[in-house]
Amino acid sequence: MSNLAIIDGLHKSFGDVAALRGVDLEVGPGEIVGLLGANGAGKTTLIRCLLGLILPDSGRVSVMGLAPGRDVLRRVGYVPQGLGLYTDLTVSENLEFQSGVYGVAEPDSISSLLPVMDQAVGRLSHGIQRRVAFAAALSHQPELLVLDEPTSGVGVLGRAGLWETIRDASAGGAGVLVTTHHLEEAEQCDRLVMLADGVVVAEGTLVEIIGPRTAVTVAGGDQARNMDLITEAGLVGSFAGTGLRVVGAGIDRVVAALGNEAGLTIHEQPATLEEAFVDLVTA
Ligand code: ATP
Repeated sequence: MSNLAIIDGLHKSFGDVAALRGVDLEVGPGEIVGLLGANGAGKTTLIRCLLGLILPDSGRVSVMGLAPGRDVLRRVGYVPQGLGLYTDLTVSENLEFQSGVYGVAEPDSISSLLPVMDQAVGRLSHGIQRRVAFAAALSHQPELLVLDEPTSGVGVLGRAGLWETIRDASAGGAGVLVTTHHLEEAEQCDRLVMLADGVVVAEGTLVEIIGPRTAVTVAGGDQARNMDLITEAGLVGSFAGTGLRVVGAGIDRVVAALGNEAGLTIHEQPATLEEAFVDLVTA
């Protein structure tokens, strides 16, 4: 199975800022690849290089076997962070414009947008604007879907609907590259690539990335005092519910840090993805 998108040793700097420092990434047909990373990690820069919107300093980008360019864009659906819609045009004008650019007929799969077809996009709610952007990106049955924070600013229900659309596209054979800050959305991806400071710090399935990482939970006692003891021991704790969670240290170190404090219940359990990410970038 040949990969739809191949990024190999990508470097890109803006002046002194090295946004990408040797990134490799591949997306296969029908695969949802999640690109994770904090603000400024390099996610948008990677997408812009992939689509040929900016040129990398070095490295190779191949999309469907071609160098990025107009022929490639015709076969890609792209929802940028800013949605890429014309807010003073109506929904139907936006979809027509997209069809004109890509040379295909208007999509049939827009039934949920029919009631707002004649409204200016700028007057619609953020969630509906996102649906319009998705419909526009999907209108030419792209082989590769590139989504930059597709659910940002969308409520829980809207998010579930957008993810259904993403899964439908992948089930139909499209490869999907999706950036997100929402680590719970990462669970929807087949494979994850975590970027920090322009470098891939982890890659694999959710289970592979969390791997052996654990969090130690501390319940009972005086939590402020427990936190002081954890911090004094050089460990990193965070308040969670009525207790504490400590990542990056085994249970023995936590027990040693808390010494003879009475009435504590201490357990070790699998880390969350968020904790694994923090552990990876602070290790
Ligand atoms: P976010 O989640 O906030 O969108 P990101 O992971 O997409 O972040 P990028 O937007 O790719 O990160 O930015 C990576 C780094 O490159 C940041 O330090 C950013 O300030 C810098 N950068 C990105 N684009 C430019 C530009 N056109 N000119 C100068 N610096 C830039």
